Amino acid sequence: MAQRIGHRIIDGIETQRCWSCGRWLPLDKFARNRTAWDNCQKRCKECDKQVYAKKREHILQQKKQYHIEHQAERCEKSRRYRQEHPEIMRRYMQIHHDRLKVLNKEWRSQNREILRAIGAKRRAIEKEASGAKYTTVAHISARWEYYGWRCYLCGRPAEATDHVIPLAKGGSHFPANLRPICTSCNSTKKDRWPIEIPASHVSYEGGTNERIS
Ligand SMILES: [Zn+2]
Ligand SMILES: [Zn+2]
Repeated sequence: MAQRIGHRIIDGIETQRCWSCGRWLPLDKFARNRTAWDNCQKRCKECDKQVYAKKREHILQQKKQYHIEHQAERCEKSRRYRQEHPEIMRRYMQIHHDRLKVLNKEWRSQNREILRAIGAKRRAIEKEASGAKYTTVAHISARWEYYGWRCYLCGRPAEATDHVIPLAKGGSHFPANLRPICTSCNSTKKDRWPIEIPASHVSYEGGTNERIS
């Protein structure tokens, strides 16, 4: 067979050069291209694969970015849909009741921080405290982190978020007024301000958190 332009016979096999990787390869290593004179793509299949993988990665990255940027929008759309279709939601809840119950329980046990933050926010909004709408779960988590997840009064593991100046006394819901507190101190303190916790209470071994000013 006569050798065609751009092709080379190597060891009796017709080859062409991939313009991307530069290798001389047998024609079956190139994808079909009906518009080419030799019915062959000029970039080898292996190089094609790499190009498509890169493209795919780029597209996935873009989709991910879009997903993140439009999260709030999506939540709002979904919330509106649920509101406008109560009968569909009711039927959905009935059909998936058992599954939803398990999922809900699981979520609640894994997201106690978020639930606590939501509870504190709701109380703050009810009392029309300043900062009620500003403060996020992330703000409250940062406060807990700062106090080492311990009660700011006695150092025991914390269970709730305290408004140091109580909401009832005009305290705000801004992060500066929020600290983790244990159940015992919470029930002793209640809406008292300024705080007068008995000295005996603070003598827990491990002590009052040093970072309290
Ligand atoms: Zn190639
Ligand atoms: Zn305590």
